[in-house]
Amino acid sequence: MTATPATSPYPHLLAPITLGSLTLRNRVVMGSMHTGLEDSRRHLPELAAFFAERARGGVGLIVTGGYAPNKRGWLKPLASEMTTRLQAMRHREVTDAVHEEGGAIALQVLHAGRYGYHPFVVSASKRKSPISLFTPRALSTRGVERTASDFARAVGLAEKAGYDAVEIMGSEGYLINQFLAARTNDRTDAWGGSAEKRMRFPLEVVRRARQEVGPDFPLIYRISLLDLVEDGQTWDEVVTLALLLEEAGVTVLNTGIGWHEARVPTIITQVPRGAWREATARLKAAVSVPVCASNRINTPELAESILADGQADLVSMARPLLADPDFVAKAMADRGDEINTCIACNQACLDHTFSNKRASCLVNPRACHETTLVLGRTRRAASVAVVGAGPAGLSSAVAAAERGFAVTLFEKSAELGGQFRLAMAVPGKEDFADTLRYYTRRLDVLGVDVRLGTEADEATLAAYDEVIVASGVVPRLPAIPGIDHPSVVSYADVLAGRVVPGHRVAVVGAGGIGVDVSVWLTHDPAETTDDWMAHWGVGDPSVHPGGLTERKARSPLREVTLIQRKTTPIGVGLGKTSGWAHRAVLKQSGVTQVSGATYDLIDDAGLHLTVDGEHRVVEVDHVVVCAGQESVRDLVSDARPDWYVVGGADVAAELDAKRAIKQGTEVVAGL
Ligand code: NAP
Ligand code: SF4
Repeated sequence: MTATPATSPYPHLLAPITLGSLTLRNRVVMGSMHTGLEDSRRHLPELAAFFAERARGGVGLIVTGGYAPNKRGWLKPLASEMTTRLQAMRHREVTDAVHEEGGAIALQVLHAGRYGYHPFVVSASKRKSPISLFTPRALSTRGVERTASDFARAVGLAEKAGYDAVEIMGSEGYLINQFLAARTNDRTDAWGGSAEKRMRFPLEVVRRARQEVGPDFPLIYRISLLDLVEDGQTWDEVVTLALLLEEAGVTVLNTGIGWHEARVPTIITQVPRGAWREATARLKAAVSVPVCASNRINTPELAESILADGQADLVSMARPLLADPDFVAKAMADRGDEINTCIACNQACLDHTFSNKRASCLVNPRACHETTLVLGRTRRAASVAVVGAGPAGLSSAVAAAERGFAVTLFEKSAELGGQFRLAMAVPGKEDFADTLRYYTRRLDVLGVDVRLGTEADEATLAAYDEVIVASGVVPRLPAIPGIDHPSVVSYADVLAGRVVPGHRVAVVGAGGIGVDVSVWLTHDPAETTDDWMAHWGVGDPSVHPGGLTERKARSPLREVTLIQRKTTPIGVGLGKTSGWAHRAVLKQSGVTQVSGATYDLIDDAGLHLTVDGEHRVVEVDHVVVCAGQESVRDLVSDARPDWYVVGGADVAAELDAKRAIKQGTEVVAGL
């Protein structure tokens, strides 16, 4: 790997740090993420390849997904656990693979408590979580003791498996957090009641773990800084716990924000970047062990500034390392502008995990498929033409150039990006601009012949060895009487800034784009991070336990009515881990939602609807059509069955960037 230049823009991030017996080559921690590869031993080779690629890319420390210390702590039936010596020995495949690449790896020990998705769940008390199906059994006093010992055993086994450190998961509302908060711990024995007694369980876990592994083995504890739930911990309790954890033998405090059941988004795109750095800084000021910042940090610049400002000693980034395994190597080589930035969409990572599917990444479909989606160097001296520079075309062009093909990219318009350009105009989706920056830079570095403002025709394309048609989509114009009325505009016109809608707007079509456009229409662009916190009710944790206070009402910029023909609730098809937050923003922004509508007419009076047999008129200045898309297939013909068709040009229905980028990459892998 390239050495860090003396004038690196990231001197703090790339500086080594010693944690007990372990010296890390830099301060970048790949945070824990459950990928789905942890749960079966037959996936260990793929897990090893996944981590090895990140170790090769220079990350300082990798933290695995969570492994339960016993069966009751499973995340789901037969989920990952570290309970036997045999399991530990099998993990050598993973730890050896990382060490061979010069990396270091920690095992995370996680007891799901009442978040487990199985009937044997246990917790501090018998209190069901609002996001779980199963009511937990309260652990008996002896059960608590045994569980603490199980944690210690898992830590000892991790050391035997060759892990360089262990992270004990004490945040995000899992078992340890359930012991800590009055919300979930109403025990009357020695493990509940006062704050001091609620803290006994994590302290006992750490003490026993420390005994198991000796004084120098790095023990990381992930502490919940802000529970963001009612009856969460007070800031005094958090700091007291941190100091006691230090005494009990913790080497590093990693930081977590929000329980899974919290109704405040903590990591998705709409959360301002670096939103939680102040909370981390507050903890750092109170303790003497190194502190690791995490959540919504996705660029080396932001990570560097957190370290340079003395707000943390390490920075944890989980999804950004899924998006780009070479994040650190690129930062080291001062090629930060070539990093494929995580856009915090959750679409292919957490949404997959929570749907029981293998995690991957929207901007990097190779993530967790390292052994099967291989972009090896080609030996063919072949030329490849790609038509269209939207998500599918960009991913095809870059992947083909990375394989060593001579690539020409034709784009009819004057700019790269296609639907990316529209997505990045949506409030809270600005990060898509980074995806466009990544592709633009990669095309340049790889020497792709980019021809903007050029429409490729069949004769031109016939000269190429391979042709990939990614000509994209056009917005659908539904056959509503009056659709040619001057008040009717397309979502593309609005998001591209070609039309500024008036104060009263009807949005036709409530799919992902209808919701996005409604947010755009009502959002105040002057919203600051402080405003965002206030709208979600995030308050000072030293005043409000759990950091949760009353929400400040939004002042929507427009009156919006969002309409669909389906009778299902609006927004049900949105992402599993982000849809609830988008739906909440619609509500907070006063968007009127109408389902089960028939569109009768658009005229000067507005949009005429029939709903439940009743006629009504929505009086509006503009009607924004978000009724899906249709494929552009001018170049698709039976005469050229050898041309590949990808993205929206292939299938427009339910097209999203995840499918487009994946398909483009897969087609190129098969060339
Ligand atoms: P979409 O999700 O297919 O939604 C279009 C909506 O328009 C449909 O829900 C449909 O609802 C309505 N519609 C379809 N044909 C119509 C017609 N002839 N007349 C009137 N209404 C009609 O498409 P999209 O919103 O354009 O989104 C495109 C893709 O981007 C989707 O895959 C979407 O998931 C993705 N996306 C995702 C997000 C996200 O947050 N994850 C955000 C933006 C976009 P009714 O038939 O019920 O009226
Ligand atoms: Fe980031 Fe989205 Fe990829 Fe997840 S799927 S790692 S959130 S870009």
